[in-house]
Amino acid sequence: MTEKHKCQGEVKHGSGWSARYTRCGKTAKVEREGQHFCGIHDPVRKSEKREAQLEEWRREGEMRIAAYKAERAQQSQLEQDAARYRWLRTRDVSFEGSDGMVFVAYVPEHGHDGSRLDANIDTAMSTPNKGESK
Ligand SMILES: [Zn+2]
Repeated sequence: MTEKHKCQGEVKHGSGWSARYTRCGKTAKVEREGQHFCGIHDPVRKSEKREAQLEEWRREGEMRIAAYKAERAQQSQLEQDAARYRWLRTRDVSFEGSDGMVFVAYVPEHGHDGSRLDANIDTAMSTPNKGESK
């Protein structure tokens, strides 16, 4: 560029229906398809900036989805554990000798809803080493 070109970019004034545009008019730095632009209004630079923003949003979205999936997986694991316990606590079952398990049993009494078992487990969990065999 031998002569000094002015930027063809548009500058927005106001917003909504009352917005109007004027020419930027700064000294141009680049020529794109016969038009001249300053560093701010260079369409290539604007496009790259937009792409970078989209990429950043895409990555943020993926991270949120991954976090949601991990949370959901943990939630269903907890639900599965709860379902196992609720199944177990009102049944008379024994897994003695299977898969290295020693003994799991509960003898249901009439009208027993498992709340005493809950209480015993809560006590054992809040007491270090209680209920754990050495
Ligand atoms: Zn400009």
